[in-house]
Amino acid sequence: MPELPEVETIRLDLDRLTKNLRITDLQLLDRRALQQTSARKFYQLKGKQIKQWDRIGKLMIVELASPQLFLLIHLKMTGQLIYRHNVDIIPGGHGLPDWHANLPNKYTIAYFSLSNGSQLFFNDMRRFAYLRVATKTELHQIKNNFGPDAISPDFSLPYWLSAVSLRKAPIKNILLNQKILAGIGNIYADEICFRARIKPTRKANKLTKQELTAIFRAIKQIMPLAIKHRGTTFSDYLDAHGQRGGFVKLLKVYGRAGKKCKRCQKGVIKKVKLGGRGTHFCPFCQI
Ligand SMILES: [Zn+2]
Repeated sequence: MPELPEVETIRLDLDRLTKNLRITDLQLLDRRALQQTSARKFYQLKGKQIKQWDRIGKLMIVELASPQLFLLIHLKMTGQLIYRHNVDIIPGGHGLPDWHANLPNKYTIAYFSLSNGSQLFFNDMRRFAYLRVATKTELHQIKNNFGPDAISPDFSLPYWLSAVSLRKAPIKNILLNQKILAGIGNIYADEICFRARIKPTRKANKLTKQELTAIFRAIKQIMPLAIKHRGTTFSDYLDAHGQRGGFVKLLKVYGRAGKKCKRCQKGVIKKVKLGGRGTHFCPFCQI
């Protein structure tokens, strides 16, 4: 699943490519992907202008005018956004063997025609991805379900310490809890714990202020670094230029079970299950 750095990479690309364009036409092919939105409400997007692409955590928010409405897009496991302009095809999100073939194709949920002659396709193979149309009031309510975004200034050290220091859950589960902190998923949670030298299985309320501060610093270092490298991709994810994210080369623990630790050169990266998620750490240099 794309996490904050991957969604941010796609957001930045689509903001640059489609800002100020108008939606001249749109087609909904699978209305089951609409969340708390009628097809009629969805078609109200026709004629509207894209003001900007925003994001909270892994949820993309397209601001439209006028009157103001918001299109929310969540890629979930296998969602993808494909921008096509003349012969240029720029996919973002999950890669499919035939992502570029015969658009719209059998994975297409909806597509938008834009005023520069381009088209934006929203595809999903596994059908967990969703679209929602929201008013400003509804958007406000939706955002209230999330903690601060990991790269926003709202996510501060005092907030982090007060939000987590009494919690009994393992620190990794805290990192994955979108109500506390938005944007982090399984890959980056493991990398953050590694950077902070803390075992992901330790309970948050047993960590010292110094250790919680180390986790906070690791979040604030890793997120911008991953965005700079256009995220992490494996076999199934592409950014909005159809490229694989460069952060995969910088992963220290995720996907390295059984290999020697790159930092201490002594430990062997261990993989355990935590809350049903594969969790990686170095038993030697993470305490
Ligand atoms: Zn180590």
